[in-house]
Amino acid sequence: MTDKTIFQQIIDREIPADIVYEDEQCLAFHDIAPQAPTHLLVIPRKPIRSVSSLEDSDMELIGHLWKVIRNLASELGLDGGYRVVVNCGPDGGQEVDHLHYHLLGGRSMQWPPG
Ligand code: 5GP
Repeated sequence: MTDKTIFQQIIDREIPADIVYEDEQCLAFHDIAPQAPTHLLVIPRKPIRSVSSLEDSDMELIGHLWKVIRNLASELGLDGGYRVVVNCGPDGGQEVDHLHYHLLGGRSMQWPPG
């Protein structure tokens, strides 16, 4: 039994994922239970548990993640728009304790979220 999160196991290539992008700082892969025609997860390699765990020194990394999200959305042709979601903590609906950005697109989104 491992105490690694499922995303750490994906980073370490211990379980498979449909990875669409990776670099020295982050990975992007398809969500296993897509909530939209496009549903990617963008995660840092650094094991940050959530937004609440971010350190001031992580801001350059966070900027990089946004750049990757912007580029992926463009490459995927999400020209009509898209939604980026970050769940934080139990009330925020976070299930995996490794910071991740949901990139959702390919359909019209509703507001407010559930
Ligand atoms: P959260 O609820 O923590 O914001 O989102 C976690 C996401 O991870 C969910 O959308 C869920 O479908 C996805 N997920 C959980 N386990 C796996 C897995 O093993 N592989 C992939 N690709 N996605 C997963």
